[in-house]
Amino acid sequence: MSDKDYDLFVIGAGSGGVRAARMAAGFGARVAVAEDRYMGGTCVNVGCVPKKLYVYASEFGKGFDDARSFGWQSEKPAFNWSTLRDNKKAEISRLNQIYQNLLAGVEADLIDGRASIVDANTVAVNGTHYRTERILIATGGWPHIPQFPGSEHAITSNEIFDLEDFPERLVVVGGGYIAVEFAGIFNGLGSAVTQLYRGPLFLRGFDSDIRAHAAQEITKTGVDLRFEVNVTSISRNSGGLQLELTDSSSIEADAVLYATGRKPNLTGLGLENVSVRLNENGSIAVDQHFQTSESSIFALGDVTGGMELTPVALAEGMAFARREFNQQNASPEYEFIPTAVFCQPNIGTVGFTEEEAQARFENIELYKSTFKPMKHTISGRDERSFMKMIVDKATDKVVGVHMVGPDAGEIMQGIAIAMKAGATKAVFDNTIGIHPTAAEEFVTLRDPWTED
Ligand code: FAD
Ligand code: NDP
Repeated sequence: MSDKDYDLFVIGAGSGGVRAARMAAGFGARVAVAEDRYMGGTCVNVGCVPKKLYVYASEFGKGFDDARSFGWQSEKPAFNWSTLRDNKKAEISRLNQIYQNLLAGVEADLIDGRASIVDANTVAVNGTHYRTERILIATGGWPHIPQFPGSEHAITSNEIFDLEDFPERLVVVGGGYIAVEFAGIFNGLGSAVTQLYRGPLFLRGFDSDIRAHAAQEITKTGVDLRFEVNVTSISRNSGGLQLELTDSSSIEADAVLYATGRKPNLTGLGLENVSVRLNENGSIAVDQHFQTSESSIFALGDVTGGMELTPVALAEGMAFARREFNQQNASPEYEFIPTAVFCQPNIGTVGFTEEEAQARFENIELYKSTFKPMKHTISGRDERSFMKMIVDKATDKVVGVHMVGPDAGEIMQGIAIAMKAGATKAVFDNTIGIHPTAAEEFVTLRDPWTED
């Protein structure tokens, strides 16, 4: 028996930390988890879960309009922000309790407070020192707002869920996942939304056709989407917030959401007391087994600067626990990680973009399809879906699939399984479709796309 209090001390009860703690405890390790804010971390409290609930809420608005052409003639109901916000709060409280029970169920000790590393085998919380064989840093990230005159008036994704008053006019700054999703949410709920992105086309890193199609469709939904523009200052006046922009124009808003990226959450963590090396961007450097340069300290999830996605943090937590506490040589597979942006319509994507595939393979074949979703043939909504498949000609393997359209996130999960299994274009072609669905289009993409 070790002289330490614990075999594993996890800092952060988010997606990665809780999964690692539960599995390690399940393998018989003595585990403690320190959490200073909320059980379940970012995803459960101010991320994926409340975001998706708000996406559902936002889709009703246009749904009521669509319904008229299908024979539903009643008035469009009014939206009530506090009902949504408070029902969301209740659901998140339920989930917090479930996370707490999950840790209690495996007899992991939950310690309420901010943890600070004292030395390579000691963690302090609220003045108490705990000795441990291993420390796991799973502290996630924190929203970053650049400093400029009036930046204190901006809010982040942490605050937007629980605003006291519904913002009738919302400015969203940024062109990544969070900016695009929240512009869609508040547009759908009835705000007048302006989204500002500093570059020529938002969603950097996604396939360029997807970026262009998404921009077109999002603009059609009513978001005032502006590129090549940024904010120079924000001030408060009697009408609300006044934003001055780099193109010399100004806008008034009730709230300004900055979704300009997240930084590793290392505040007060005590890293100065140990020799944990950081990457250039400030994230914690780890090897393929999540070990830092201090051999008893491990890190995983957003704090290590990989793909900031909950399923990635979960996979890392499981691999870590299996390796350290169950003698399994486990490592997560990072190839073909599917992802979705829950804007309206959704973006779903897995594998290489056209640009990446061109650089990687000698010869690629592209398949593209643009069409009106069946529902909107009657609803009258002016929305078009777009699908794109990228095939490596040498092997016939499908190496990239991208979509903008309803349920793209749902559709892409199955496609990702096929791609992980090494499916060729011929396998897609030999698969019988499900009719009538949008997804069947992926098994009927007959002719390679050619430039006209
Ligand atoms: P986190 O879940 O952030 O957990 C870290 C925990 O550590 C927190 O609870 C924090 O309070 C705690 N902590 C930090 N420092 C200390 C300390 N010193 N002591 C004690 N506790 C500490 N991903 C998806 O896959 N799909 C989505 O749809 C999606 N939507 C998102 C929407 C938003 C608005 C945001 C912000 C993120 C979203 N993400 C989404 C990303 C996802 O939430 C993260 O990738 C995931 O939560 C990372 O898990 P983690 O365990 O690394 O960290
Ligand atoms: P992202 O890194 O995705 O996007 C940040 C955006 O802000 C980019 O468009 C960037 O522009 C822009 N930006 C950065 N700095 C500035 C600045 N100083 N002024 C103006 N614009 C700036 O971060 P997010 O905050 O959107 O999200 C963080 C992560 O959370 C995501 O990367 C994703 O991994 C995860 N997430 C996942 C979701 C999902 O799975 N559906 C949903 C939400 C979040 P540029 O491109 O020019 O650098």
